[in-house]
Amino acid sequence: MLDADFFRRWMTAAATSVDREAERLTALDSAIGDADHGSNMQRGFRAVTATLEKEAPDTPGGVLTLAGRQLISTVGGASGPLYGTLLRRTGKALGEAAEVGEEQLAAALRAGVEGVMKLGGAAPGDKTMIDALLPAVDALASGFAAARTAAEEGALATTPLQARKGRASYLGERSIGHQDPGATSSALLIAALADTAEASGE
Ligand code: ADP
Ligand code: MG
Repeated sequence: MLDADFFRRWMTAAATSVDREAERLTALDSAIGDADHGSNMQRGFRAVTATLEKEAPDTPGGVLTLAGRQLISTVGGASGPLYGTLLRRTGKALGEAAEVGEEQLAAALRAGVEGVMKLGGAAPGDKTMIDALLPAVDALASGFAAARTAAEEGALATTPLQARKGRASYLGERSIGHQDPGATSSALLIAALADTAEASGE
């Protein structure tokens, strides 16, 4: 079972990974966007870990809901409201339980990803974070490691696609041949989840 502390460790692992990869995320966004994805994610996840330390919610749903709210209020770019919605919806779906199972998490994350698709209007293949998140949620039934692999493959598979949502879509065909920054950061988020699960023997 996964408790509030597990979810706090996931968010901390995500923040560490985003810090480490911020330059790469910004480089990807400079090719098909406005070169701010790394700094957006860094600012957002630093604020998330700070607020989680201060407020220390005691349920998994509470941790993710607070994290999502924090992302929405600190990140100006498109990714802030989208990732914020992902975490907030997932947290809401987890409800007020003190501990949740893997299946419950998989169902909640699916609700979160559906929230992102509704807010941003992106479908699979539009070259967005959805292309990493949706395969990860589908694979989660087979375990955390499978979800990590699916997210990484999904992010890599955005390279030949033409962007149909967000800033990259303004480039039309010129967006082809570049990996999507948001799909890349989504793969980091899912990898942080898998790392956290492995470290706690899940
Ligand atoms: P901005 O585009 O405002 O500069 P970021 O650079 O932080 O925001 O984030 C860009 C990423 O957000 C893209 O790489 C893409 O994955 C994701 N994104 C943009 N628009 C959408 C959308 N409508 N639906 C899903 N994801 C989106
Ligand atoms: Mg950007």
